[in-house]
Amino acid sequence: MSDLQAKSSRTSARGKLRLSIRARLIVVALVAIAPLMFERVRGLEQARAERTEHAHAQVIDMARRGAESQRETAYSIRALLQVIAHAYATTRPDTADCARMLTGLIGNVPWLQNLGVATPDGRITCATDQRAIGLNIADRPYFQTALHSHEFALSDYLINRVDQTPTLIAAFPAVNEGGTTNGVILASVNLSWIADLAAKTAQRSGTSVMLVDSSGTLIAASDDLRELIGKNLAARPLTKRMLAGDEGTATLKGFDGVRRIFAYVRVPWTGARLAVGLDEAVVHSGIDREITVAYLQLALFGTLVLLAAWFGGEQLIVRPIRALARTAARFGRGDLRVRATDEPWMAEFEPLAAALDDMARKLAAREEELRIANQHLEELASLDGLTGLANRRGFDRKLEEEWQRAAQRSVPLALMMIDIDHFKLFNDRYGHVRGDACLRAVGETLSLVTLDDAVLVARYGGEEFALLLPGLDVERASTLADEARRAIEDLLITHAESSRGHVTISIGVDSIVPRQDQAAADLVEAADRALYTAKRSGRNAVCANEAMLLSEAC
Ligand code: GH3
Ligand code: MG
Ligand code: MG
Repeated sequence: MSDLQAKSSRTSARGKLRLSIRARLIVVALVAIAPLMFERVRGLEQARAERTEHAHAQVIDMARRGAESQRETAYSIRALLQVIAHAYATTRPDTADCARMLTGLIGNVPWLQNLGVATPDGRITCATDQRAIGLNIADRPYFQTALHSHEFALSDYLINRVDQTPTLIAAFPAVNEGGTTNGVILASVNLSWIADLAAKTAQRSGTSVMLVDSSGTLIAASDDLRELIGKNLAARPLTKRMLAGDEGTATLKGFDGVRRIFAYVRVPWTGARLAVGLDEAVVHSGIDREITVAYLQLALFGTLVLLAAWFGGEQLIVRPIRALARTAARFGRGDLRVRATDEPWMAEFEPLAAALDDMARKLAAREEELRIANQHLEELASLDGLTGLANRRGFDRKLEEEWQRAAQRSVPLALMMIDIDHFKLFNDRYGHVRGDACLRAVGETLSLVTLDDAVLVARYGGEEFALLLPGLDVERASTLADEARRAIEDLLITHAESSRGHVTISIGVDSIVPRQDQAAADLVEAADRALYTAKRSGRNAVCANEAMLLSEAC
């Protein structure tokens, strides 16, 4: 991870989250596309809701129409029973006549299985099926309803006590003109008409139709539920829902486990409910596919936007910033020649690049000023203020340089160590001011005399001078030293305290071709020893390290 990234993912000391530029770009992109995405999702969800609403309307319509056609069937049964009841109440036939009348009627009505008459106490006295005679149905709710309400009543689904088959029984009271109930006319109804109704209603694919009585038993159903007919399904959520109200809709799993949009309607005169269900998957198949595609599109679009924000941020912002940071880092390392503006920048980054370059130029200028000032200081630090010659520091540096050079070239390097004779006495006699003037005069003269050969004339310290003479062997150096000695003598600077009456100098000379095991200090020591010899030999003399007597005194 680069520094830039590492910093961007940190949190500040105050605990505030600092998002990177790319993260911010992504947030902006998300904020920009979020309304579009929400709008699209909302539109699709709305379409789905409309589709659901439409399916609800469809199933409730189908259920109502189904229930209505049952009403018509029930009306026909009711009308027939009403006619029989009237005839029975009026004529009060004996058992044989009653049986004849009923048998004559039943042959004309296909959905009638059996016709009979029960006395008000519930005993069946005449019937088209002889097996029914003598049965007591006083405990049947439809019988009690018909008896007491004087109205037509339909039973729940039940197992016929005569032939043990599933049956619906219609009951109509026979009431005479005096208002007394003579008996109850009974008709057991063939359930096939209900099955026909179910088959008619369930023509559309994925449609399930069922008729459940008030006890929760499935009376009739479309083919998909045929196996469950006759079974009590009261514990099923769908049945509970259906029996909880006269009419309504619900979306839940049907008896076959398939989720459907159901509508249920109470069948007139009965506690039964007719329910129609549309397969939810079929209803929503198109729109669900559309929604899935839309979500995939949104995911793809969102991903593309995020990638664009990420890579766009990388290319357009992070990369130029990194490049500028690299340039600034090079400036920091002292590489001030590099120029940020050498590369083409986007307009927004140009001022920054120009400012960096400007900073680099100013830094370079300051660096140059500093370099010159340092050089100047360096020179000042290497010069002797009194004579203007190199000082000891300058001498040491130059000696080291010349020593290395001579070592590389295997040539000799000669050194003269010079000391003014009895200078203390000169000072004592003539004062320091004249002493200083004497020092200056000696320095100038030494410089002039050795102009062609000396690379350096230095004030070594006090009244001592040192001269570096590259390439000169000890003989040539000693000869030159003697010239210098004479030149000082010839200055004729009065020195009453000296035996010669004027200022003189003593010089020690040596010349060495540097070897690996030698150091520059060896040359100084050797010349110094020669100077000491010159002093001891009486001063105003030149002595070489080798025993060469160049002056009378040595
Ligand atoms: P010798 O012949 O043995 O060299 O005797 P000398 O008196 O020259 O030797 P010594 O080292 O005793 O004295 C050196 C003197 O140089 C002592 C000091 O007063 C003088 N001196 C050193 N530096 C300066 C300076 O900058 N200005 C002046 N006027 N005198 C200086
Ligand atoms: Mg001295
Ligand atoms: Mg001296």
